[in-house]
Amino acid sequence: MKEKIHPQYGEAKVICGCGNTFTTGSVKKELRVDVCSACHPFFTGQQRNMAARGRIEKFNKRYGQEG
Ligand SMILES: [Zn+2]
Repeated sequence: MKEKIHPQYGEAKVICGCGNTFTTGSVKKELRVDVCSACHPFFTGQQRNMAARGRIEKFNKRYGQEG
């Protein structure tokens, strides 16, 4: 068995497109990502707000005409 080819698992610095940086466990020393927990819609709630807004627009379309 060639044990020396095993990549070293350590701490990697993650650099996000939003400018946020954090560390995570990885075999790489540096990682670049487009979204992170600070700017991802899932974590910021942006997507949820957009969905809620769409629902309100639908509501207005449906009931606004009758008013
Ligand atoms: Zn980010």
